[in-house]
Amino acid sequence: MKALVDTRILQREYLLAISRALTAELDLHDLLRIILRAAVELVSGRAGMIALVEPDSETFRVAAVYGIPPHLVDHFAPLVHGLPYEEGTENEAIPEITRRLKEIARKADMGLTQALRLPMTSGNQLIGLIYVFQSGNYYFVEDAARLLRSFAEQAAIAVRNARLYQQVHQEKQRLYAILEQSADGVMILDPSLRIKVFNKSLSQMTGWNATDVIGQTHHDVINWVTVRTDSDLEDAIANGWPLPGATQIYVEGDLQRFTDQESQSKTGQLISLGITYAPLVDENDQMTDIIANVRDLTRYREEEQLQKTFISVVSHELKTPVSIIKGYAGTLRRQDANWSPEVLDESLAVIEEEADHLTALIDNLLEASRLQAGTFNLEISEEVLLPKIAADVVRKFGSQVQDHTFILDFPADFPAVMGDERRLIQVFNNLVSNAIKYSPGKGEITVSGDVHSDYVTVSVADEGIGIPDHEKYRIFQKFSRLDNALSRKTEGTGLGLFLTKAIIEAHDGRIWFSANEGKPGTTFTFSIPRD
Ligand code: ADP
Repeated sequence: MKALVDTRILQREYLLAISRALTAELDLHDLLRIILRAAVELVSGRAGMIALVEPDSETFRVAAVYGIPPHLVDHFAPLVHGLPYEEGTENEAIPEITRRLKEIARKADMGLTQALRLPMTSGNQLIGLIYVFQSGNYYFVEDAARLLRSFAEQAAIAVRNARLYQQVHQEKQRLYAILEQSADGVMILDPSLRIKVFNKSLSQMTGWNATDVIGQTHHDVINWVTVRTDSDLEDAIANGWPLPGATQIYVEGDLQRFTDQESQSKTGQLISLGITYAPLVDENDQMTDIIANVRDLTRYREEEQLQKTFISVVSHELKTPVSIIKGYAGTLRRQDANWSPEVLDESLAVIEEEADHLTALIDNLLEASRLQAGTFNLEISEEVLLPKIAADVVRKFGSQVQDHTFILDFPADFPAVMGDERRLIQVFNNLVSNAIKYSPGKGEITVSGDVHSDYVTVSVADEGIGIPDHEKYRIFQKFSRLDNALSRKTEGTGLGLFLTKAIIEAHDGRIWFSANEGKPGTTFTFSIPRD
C-alpha cells in the first residue's frame, strides 16, 4: 500500500515538473518531443508517437516519434490513418490497433506488442493523438490510460499555445517582410519619439542605415531644413497630439540627405519628404506607437522647380536677343538718320549674331524635348574629324572674344570616328562656350585630344572659376545652373551640359570633369569609341 502511495506522489511530482516545462516551451517541435518523452516515461513504455490533426483537414500527420529509428518511421503511418478516434475508447485496447501494431513490429523487427492511444483535446476540438507502445512481455503500469489522459489534456493546451505563438510569430515575420519591402518609407516610433523600426526604402531615401538610427530620437534623423506644412511632429505633440479620436497628421518639407560626417554640409543634397504620422493607442487611449509613412517627393518637387525654371529661363533667354534685335532694327529704320556703311555693317552683324544665338537656344530646347519624348536619334556619318571640328569651333569663338587665348593640341594620328557630326559640333560649342563664359575676363583654353586603343578622348580645359565639390552631382542635370554669382550674371539655360552628356552617351561614350591640378579652372573630358 505504501509503495503505491509513493509511486503516486512521485508521479504527481513528475507531472508537475513536466507541466512547468510544457508551459515554458514555445517551440512546437521541441514541445512535442518533451511531451512524448514524458508520456512514454510516465507509463514505462518503450516507444511513442504523436500525430497531429492537420489544420483545415481531418487527416493526421506524424509530428514526433520517440524510441523509433528514423528510417522505420514510415512503417507507422498505418496507425494514424483510417482509425478514427472515438470518445471514451482510450481505456480499451482497440483490436485493430493491436493487429496493425503487430504487423508493423514484424516488418520493422521491433518487437512491439501493445499500444495506448490518448486524445489531445483543447476545448472540444481534437488536435492530436499520443501513442505509447510497449514491447515483449512487459505490461503498462496499472492505470496507465487514466494517468496519460490528464497529462494529454495539459499537453494539448501547451500545443495549442505553441501553435498560437507560432502563428503570431509567422504573422509578425510576414508583417515585417511587408514593411521592409514596402516601396514607401516606414518608420515606427515609441511614445518618447525614439525610432524602433526604419525600413529599407526609408534608408534609401534618407541615406541613413537602419542600424544607425534605431534608438535615436525622431528629431535627430528627420531634421527638417524647411517645413511646408503648418507644423512638424514635435510641434503637434507639444500641442497635445494625438487628441482622443486619434487622427493622423501630415508633415511635408525638405531635409538634408545624410551622407557621411565629412561631406555633410548645409549645401548638400536636399530631399523632399511627405510624412503621415498615425498614432496607435491602447484600450486606455494611451499612445503605444507612432507609425510614420514616408513618401519621397524629391522628384516631384524637382519637376515642379524645373517647370518654374524652364519658364523663367526661356522667357529671359528669348527676350534678351529679341530685344537686342528689335533695338538695332528700330534704330536702323529711323527715317531721319543717315547711317554710315560701318555702322550699318556692325549693327547687322549684331542682329545676325543674336539671331544665331536664338537659333541655338531653340535648337537646344528642341533637342531637350526630343530626348524627353524618346525621339532623339543620331544621324551617323562614317568619318567625323574631331580635330577639325575643334579647330573650326575655336576659330569661331576666337573671333568673338579678345582676352582669351586658345591652344589646340591633337596628335597627328588622331583617327576619324563614327558619329553624328552636327551633334558633335554642338558638344564642342557647348564645352568651349562654357569655358569662355566661366573664365571671366581672360584665360587660356586648351582643347586637346588623346588616342587610346579602343577609344579617343577630347578635353576642354579652362582657367576659370571651377566647380565646387558639392555641386558636382547636378552639373549635368537639366536646367541646372550653379548657384554662384557668375551663372546669375552670364546668360545660359542650364541645358548645355545636359544635352552634351546625352549626345556623348548616345555615342556610347562618357563625359566627366575634374579640377585642374595646381591651378584654377576645370577640365571637361569626353570619350568616344573608335569604332
Ligand atoms: P549654362 O547654359 O548655364 O551654361 P550648362 O548646362 O552648359 O548651362 O552648364 C550648367 C552649369 O554648370 C552652368 O550654369 C555653370 O554654373 C556650370 N559650368 C559649366 N561649365 C563650367 C565651367 N567650365 N566652369 C565652371 N562652371 C561651369
